[in-house]
Amino acid sequence: MTVKVILNPYAGRWLALERKEQLESTLKEAKIDYELVVTNGPGHGIDLAKQAVEQGFNPVIAAGGDGTYSEVINGIVAANNNDGSVEFGVIPLGSANDLAENLNLPKEIPAAVGVIVGGYTRKMDLCQVNDRYFGNNAAIGLEPYITLIQQRIKRLKGSFRYLTATLLGVKDKPRWDMSLEWEGGSYEGPVTLVTVGNSPRTGGIFYMTPHADPFDGLLTFVYGFMPTRRRILSLLPRTMKPGEGSYVEHPQIHEVNTPWLKVSSIQPTPAHADGEVFAEQIHDLSYRVFPGCLPILMQEN
Ligand SMILES: [Mg+2]
Repeated sequence: MTVKVILNPYAGRWLALERKEQLESTLKEAKIDYELVVTNGPGHGIDLAKQAVEQGFNPVIAAGGDGTYSEVINGIVAANNNDGSVEFGVIPLGSANDLAENLNLPKEIPAAVGVIVGGYTRKMDLCQVNDRYFGNNAAIGLEPYITLIQQRIKRLKGSFRYLTATLLGVKDKPRWDMSLEWEGGSYEGPVTLVTVGNSPRTGGIFYMTPHADPFDGLLTFVYGFMPTRRRILSLLPRTMKPGEGSYVEHPQIHEVNTPWLKVSSIQPTPAHADGEVFAEQIHDLSYRVFPGCLPILMQEN
């Protein structure tokens, strides 16, 4: 079987392109029968992954960051109708690599190639929001609200830009009135955020759904309403804590496990899936999980 490698050259601020040569020589040394293609812009990874599956490549490997993994997952699912027959792997070359970090996958190229050679897979859950699939996390409310502000700030760079966007977002104190419905429960009222996780970590440093497990067959989502700027700011550092002291311990923050979640928002909200804002103004969202539908190449432990 021939391995398809889909490399996003922009991942990790062009780091991925710099490491393409090392990746190819490592694949050759490992005697892997492979074909490597490079994406040319947003969304291209979906088409390339879909073609790869249709042409019989298996496994299909995403070399890049979380956005790249997400596109390749969507392409695989689009081609094989989500039947779990095609294996998925990652070569982490992005800046955050949340999915790789959450699954404890090696970040160095030789070790990541070793995982492909090893051929051991585990069947990971796959999540869906409306017609998009995601492997790691999807959210509405404050999270994508801040992402949109960040995308509009052109003058600043890196973490300073992110911090500025966060403070501007908190200053607006956005609030949505939503009704949420999930298996065995519901909520109707104001919310600041709704974040849905397959895995705990997102955005490199945030544990938005700290108890999410991509192998338990359930979505883990967190919702809450923080009525004041002071409250939002005091909880923000606690979103960076994976364990004790996490923001989900706050009595107004709720973490729920469920196979599905339906959301209806009176005010339009932006929405992201795996970090990509796919709607700037949306009212209705439907989330579900497909248990064990994505065989992912991992280290055998
Ligand atoms: Mg889960």
